[in-house]
Amino acid sequence: MKKLLFQFDTDTHPSVFDTVVAYDGGADHVIGHANLTPTNVRSLVEGTIFTRPPKSKKNTAIFVGGSDMEAGQALFEAVQSYFFPSFQVSVMLDSNGSNTTAAAAVAKLASSGSLSGKKAVVLAGTGPVGQRAAVMLAQEGAEVSITSRHLDKAKHACANMKKRFNVDLTAIEANSFDSRVTAIKGANIILATGAAGVELLKAEHWENNSTLEMIADANATPPLGIGGTDMMDKGIDRHGKIIWGAIGFGTLKLALHRACIEKLFENNKQVFDAELIFKLAKEMA
Ligand code: NAP
Repeated sequence: MKKLLFQFDTDTHPSVFDTVVAYDGGADHVIGHANLTPTNVRSLVEGTIFTRPPKSKKNTAIFVGGSDMEAGQALFEAVQSYFFPSFQVSVMLDSNGSNTTAAAAVAKLASSGSLSGKKAVVLAGTGPVGQRAAVMLAQEGAEVSITSRHLDKAKHACANMKKRFNVDLTAIEANSFDSRVTAIKGANIILATGAAGVELLKAEHWENNSTLEMIADANATPPLGIGGTDMMDKGIDRHGKIIWGAIGFGTLKLALHRACIEKLFENNKQVFDAELIFKLAKEMA
């Protein structure tokens, strides 16, 4: 029986990246649907749960993606609300690679040293990757702040994560190099999750920061998020700090994303969200 992955996307086009990884993760056929919301997804979910007999339901799965974390979360919850005993399929949430990218970055940081009790700053942490990474850092025992160019946006992201994961994050407004330098004063860990091609710090802004122990940067599109690093850095030492570049931990991100897709088809009851994905990332790291 063919393994069918239904890609439910909140954007106007289903993500090509997610489609490619879905095939690489073992799906035989990937069917993308765009512009999905909690109110228009019901019949699609019913199509996945009513069509195959119990023993074969594991060959149908749902992947929720898109660039809006809150919209993805709402769609993911709505999808599961239409399941009932014996009528469900495995599901995964990874809006903009949020869970898999965040999990890979934080798992690699954790593999370089304990995060517990450390002060961590997620620069430009209001996007899907930053929000989920902040949660994972907090779950490892770090004291986490996220920055945004707009205080309200940072506060909103913190509230969104508090609601979903019950973690306390601190919102910081930082809309310039100077304000980001202030934000990282006394920090032990920086995780940069800014939009592609946006430089958040230059080399001179962090090289002499005496409290800083580790840096990870998710942005692989030049200019990198953190100047003076290399996207290929794999836990190397620069100026006494351990550096993970976007491709340096991106290898784990891709392997993790593929592994999650493969696991979706093992049975029909799996829910791959931050918790399970981060657990798997730590095992794989
Ligand atoms: P995103 O939503 O596109 O952007 C994250 C945040 O960047 C935004 O919320 C915004 O924050 C800030 N930003 C945008 N333009 C800016 C500017 N000109 N100056 C300063 N800040 C700006 O990002 P994402 O989808 O979460 O992804 C985060 C990063 O991970 C991206 O660089 C993406 O390419 C990368 N990525 C890496 C991997 C990997 O394996 N390494 C995988 C997936 C994604 P405010 O508006 O709140 O300031």
